[in-house]
Amino acid sequence: MKKIISLIFTMTLAFTGQAQMSMQEQDSLNLRKLFDMSLLNGQSYEWLDHLSNQIGGRLSGSVNAQRAVEYTKAELETLGLDKVWLQPVMVPKWTRGVQEYAYVQPSQGPTTTVNITALGGSVATPETGLRGKVIEVQGIEDLARYGKEQIEGKIVFYNRPMRPDLIHTFEAYGGCVDQRYAGAKEAAKYGAKGVIVRSLSHKIDDNPHTGSMSYGELPNEKRIPAAAISTKDAEYLSSLLKLDPEMDFYYKMNCRNYDDVQSYNVIGEITGSEFPEEIIVVGGHLDSWDLGDGSHDDGAGVVQSMEVLRLFKESGLRPKRTIRVVLFMNEENGLRGGNKYAEVAREKNENHIFALESDAGGFTPRGFSFDASDAQFKKIQSWEPLFKPYLIHYFEQGGSGADIGPLKGGNIVLAGLRPDSQRYFDHHHAATDTFDAVNKRELELGAATMASLVYLVDKYGFEKIQQKDEILK
Ligand SMILES: [Zn+2]
Repeated sequence: MKKIISLIFTMTLAFTGQAQMSMQEQDSLNLRKLFDMSLLNGQSYEWLDHLSNQIGGRLSGSVNAQRAVEYTKAELETLGLDKVWLQPVMVPKWTRGVQEYAYVQPSQGPTTTVNITALGGSVATPETGLRGKVIEVQGIEDLARYGKEQIEGKIVFYNRPMRPDLIHTFEAYGGCVDQRYAGAKEAAKYGAKGVIVRSLSHKIDDNPHTGSMSYGELPNEKRIPAAAISTKDAEYLSSLLKLDPEMDFYYKMNCRNYDDVQSYNVIGEITGSEFPEEIIVVGGHLDSWDLGDGSHDDGAGVVQSMEVLRLFKESGLRPKRTIRVVLFMNEENGLRGGNKYAEVAREKNENHIFALESDAGGFTPRGFSFDASDAQFKKIQSWEPLFKPYLIHYFEQGGSGADIGPLKGGNIVLAGLRPDSQRYFDHHHAATDTFDAVNKRELELGAATMASLVYLVDKYGFEKIQQKDEILK
């Protein structure tokens, strides 16, 4: 008897072992399939080509943004998804107008033109331009030190550079972006008449980098024009100021803010075969700045997200849960699309279990960062070996993405694709964010990496963490 029990026990063990083994083998084969399909027969690069070269920069509220809505919707409709639709959202409309112009004028000697670009949302200079003395600061915190006496009537020049020693370049960006976003609002409180912000880039070149800024609650008459200056000209301006603090800076911009206009998030889904009410979102943002064609930010994320759904259809992997691609509108200067999507999801009481965003450039994928509980993260970590053949090794707790941020709450796990970021800020929000800066293989590897994670989340799901009140009941 003992023998029989032990035999059954051994057989059960062997059987379970085999089952587990085959499960892992099956996963690894399916990941291989997703990578093969993306690399051998992918569509992401072709889509990006169209978005970048046929449409171009996609500023919220522009004709190009609308063309991108129509193009991506039409392409999603060719994939044989269960549903494709547009979700209306009102977005801000800001236009740059004719190209900005700026020069420095030393106390003696000729003027030199410098490269600037208006920050998104900035008011224009007077029609004849704005001229003034310059005060250089290393950040908003310097304003209090100089006080109104030294700032009033001047142009504040924010010149804190991004730290080159930080390996995570988004940290270096995060350490400087307040100058761009809130620099004008804060300097206006001290009576400054304009602001110039050093471009947020590691590279020393002639390309100014735009980006969003806000005046907060500042009344219209107190709003001052804000521009970014190229890193090379920021260095030049700074050295000139040391020699000649009385020099003048002149700039002219005719950008303009309009009333909000109608736009859309583009959405498509494959309905889950077993748990259709459990929703997995994969997305990027459709809008971009206008200086380049928005290939890295975030055309890459858009086409990779579309490719995830295409890979599921093409591979015949039928998801158990609903997989939804969301192409968000207006991430750059308002986040209206991300907020609207979350708002509608809450209204409909939808159950989102996972959201993955790609908005860090189309470079070689290294892994993901997660916004998850310890238990959820542990489960994700158990999948790490499956990614090893593709050199995907970065699995860390941390932020996810701006557009999916508003979905946070309850049991949802949020994630961001983390590509190599060393060259990202050379292109970010500048004229150099163009199609030729995106490498086909790198883009396709990113799409397959995303599809692999979505495949695993769909297959295994996440255990629902009981809420405190449920446990008490
Ligand atoms: Zn972006």
